[in-house]
Amino acid sequence: MLLKKTLRALLLAVASLMGLAHADPLSYARYDQVRTRDLQLDLSADFGRHTLSGYAELSLDWLDSKARTLVLDTSELQIARVQLLQPSGRWQSASFMLDRPDAEKGRALRIALPFQPKKVRIYYSTAASASALQWMAPRQTMSGKHPFMFSQSQEINARSWVPLQDTPAVRFTYSARITAPQGLRVLMSAASETDAPATAAQQKLQPQTKAAAAGSASWKFHMAQPIPSYLLAIAIGELEKRTLGPRSAVYAEPARIEAAAYELADTEKMISAAEALYGPYRWERYDMLVLPPSFPIGGMENPRLTFVTPTMIAGDRSLVDLIAHELAHSWSGNLVTNSTWKHFWLNEGFTNYVTTRVVEQLYGAEVAKMNLQVEQEEAMASLASIAPQKQALVTRDADTSAATYTDGGLVYPKGAWLLRTLEQRAGRAVFDRFLRGWFDQHAFQSVRTEEFVSYLRKNLLDAHPEVMTDAELDAWLYQPGIPASARHEASPRLAALDAQRSAWLQGTLPTAELPATGWIALEWMHFLNDIDGKASAAQLQELDQRFKLASSGNNEITYRFYLSSIKAGYQVRAPLQAFLLSVGRQKFVVPLYAALLNNPAERAWAQALYAQARPLYHPVTQSSVDKQFKKP
Ligand SMILES: [Zn+2]
Repeated sequence: MLLKKTLRALLLAVASLMGLAHADPLSYARYDQVRTRDLQLDLSADFGRHTLSGYAELSLDWLDSKARTLVLDTSELQIARVQLLQPSGRWQSASFMLDRPDAEKGRALRIALPFQPKKVRIYYSTAASASALQWMAPRQTMSGKHPFMFSQSQEINARSWVPLQDTPAVRFTYSARITAPQGLRVLMSAASETDAPATAAQQKLQPQTKAAAAGSASWKFHMAQPIPSYLLAIAIGELEKRTLGPRSAVYAEPARIEAAAYELADTEKMISAAEALYGPYRWERYDMLVLPPSFPIGGMENPRLTFVTPTMIAGDRSLVDLIAHELAHSWSGNLVTNSTWKHFWLNEGFTNYVTTRVVEQLYGAEVAKMNLQVEQEEAMASLASIAPQKQALVTRDADTSAATYTDGGLVYPKGAWLLRTLEQRAGRAVFDRFLRGWFDQHAFQSVRTEEFVSYLRKNLLDAHPEVMTDAELDAWLYQPGIPASARHEASPRLAALDAQRSAWLQGTLPTAELPATGWIALEWMHFLNDIDGKASAAQLQELDQRFKLASSGNNEITYRFYLSSIKAGYQVRAPLQAFLLSVGRQKFVVPLYAALLNNPAERAWAQALYAQARPLYHPVTQSSVDKQFKKP
């Protein structure tokens, strides 16, 4: 124990000397001086006022004996009081101040310290407009009976519901007691200590607390593995649970639980496949929570409890690569974490690479190859709309520089492509050992690109210099575009499909003769990816009549079909309206509104539809769509 502690202090001191210890430009925290080791939360959820209130208790490791201020990140938090734990074990109040708010970073909370306390307690409540939290009215849920609340802390929204050092460079364990209305289930990115909560009566609360807590229940959680703040997560709602395997279950609204359990039946196979490649799963359980449709993103890799969009439930398990992606984060991202958001590709590029490997294990090499080709083609197509200086995986600027982040979308496929290139040239025997070593040697650490490069040299390139020259590595990491030397995947099945698509677009292959009945979702996605602006309204109508695309259960297919239809002038208003009123995932919603607004015939209709749909969307989605409407 002691040795471990000394070693930790020594490592932190070395990091501090190297000037890396408080480099995150998106955080006010001075983690070169002090680091959070553990967080305890005691919070009550108020669905009437849309707030969480209570206290956060931080256990601190002091690195700089001269420091006399503790700086925490907050956003819109109301701070009631702050207490410090004296060496005698008594709590004493501390004075504090909040800086003026910054639009992006929120407000620094500065706590004055007469001594360096081992623990600090901050009593606070969140704002109804907290950027991490969406509070939903009963009518926004499937049953319409109960309200729902969920969080999305990535990248810097955790500070809007907990005062803390909100940087991926700091990891901590956490425990929580969450009080919520009876009848609702509370879930967190942590082990739930009970499957059913203690009622107010069972908790032996003080009389005044008992009165306040009438009709409520408390849930306790513990997270034993240290996590960065962006992986803190909470959800409260009418949720049912179905066991999927020995270490996995799914939670969803009652009306969706059966479909969710069917869709996610392969989860244990996925965990085993990833373990065979990259070593043991270190988070004990892998549960999933299927959120209401307003969840603004595809999935969020909250440890022990992935949050997923219901749009991945296609009815035929055709979109479960989204789960493979979130599961892959259990190694890349959650276990080995980018130390600031500048190094985001270390989370997402690695995860996209691991995802394709897991897909290959489960669904075979041909499907994996198609997946990869679609990913690479979409990356190439996206380059046209990304400024060259944003196309690098990472910039050479100092970590402290906030203005120079690269494109958040491109780093997923481009980072994966770099790893794929290394794998193809080094061979799997060598590369798989290399990548597993990266995860093992950096487990529960936060890392920078420079550390990856030196690991790469020492563990791969020194022995196999022919795999990649310095100049080529430089091009992948720091230069725009995809290096000319990159191998582009070419699946024979997709090549055949390309020929059929061209013939169909030219009118030489009638719609009725398209051999599409046996196509898997990926083949449809590939087909639809390249008809935008080329297919006529009449062709789209034929396609719809024959293959029922506008009403497909697969949202990746309907989304692409709607997009091409809007551009070609084939009206799909009824299904599109139903889609936009039930799906709040930004990836689908934002481009669809953009396309509608670009089509003069659809503008007024889109405006009326958005007025109806906007209240159903997450604040993050609202703000992105609002921007589309503000464009001239
Ligand atoms: Zn991801």
